[in-house]
Amino acid sequence: VSDLDLIYELDIIYNEITIKEKELERLNNRLEINKTEEEKKRYIIELDNLNNLLNDKHSILRKKENELKDYKYKLNNLKDSYEKTNVKDTKQYEYFISSINNLENRIDLLESEILELMISEDKISNNIIRVKEKIKEISDEIVNLYDANYANVEILKKEIEALQKEVLEIRKKITISKLSEYEKIKYRKKRAVAEVKDKACTSCGMILPTSYIDFLKKSDDIIVCENCGSILYINKE
Ligand SMILES: [Zn+2]
Repeated sequence: VSDLDLIYELDIIYNEITIKEKELERLNNRLEINKTEEEKKRYIIELDNLNNLLNDKHSILRKKENELKDYKYKLNNLKDSYEKTNVKDTKQYEYFISSINNLENRIDLLESEILELMISEDKISNNIIRVKEKIKEISDEIVNLYDANYANVEILKKEIEALQKEVLEIRKKITISKLSEYEKIKYRKKRAVAEVKDKACTSCGMILPTSYIDFLKKSDDIIVCENCGSILYINKE
């Protein structure tokens, strides 16, 4: 195994570490968990609003029920006094009838209003149950996300650790002068090594002359692409 083979391998591993470190950062920022927590907050606000609405409807309902009791009591009194009174003239008779009618109409109206309020209370209660279920569902999901996140963070940390050990092993095998040449280039570029495939630099795509490729195949020196500055690597097998 030549220095160039090792440098090529080293560059790939450094790149894998970078990818895994980015993923680790993403997991540490808990983007998905934060999104789900926000969703839960929205449902909790919705639940609050529904509870307030239900309380409002309920106090209106109570008021109407008291009014209804009141009117029924008045109606009974009126009917009693009508029965007890010996009604003689038409005016008095009309007074009773119209008062009774009036009260009965109000009672009818109140009863239908109360029914509507009860139906609407039922609907709100059902919505409250639905939203509570949703909140429970999301809370479970958040617990699972935390567990999965934790597990993935641990896996990634171990993978990065293993790759860093590999890096140390490979570096030991590389001639120091070549390693420092590699590091100078690596300092400037994300990917320092580009494989030559189909007679082209895979980093920038520049086509290399055949004579140059033959030269590369024989050389053990670090040679960079004239166009992009990547170390050119050619598989000699
Ligand atoms: Zn290039």
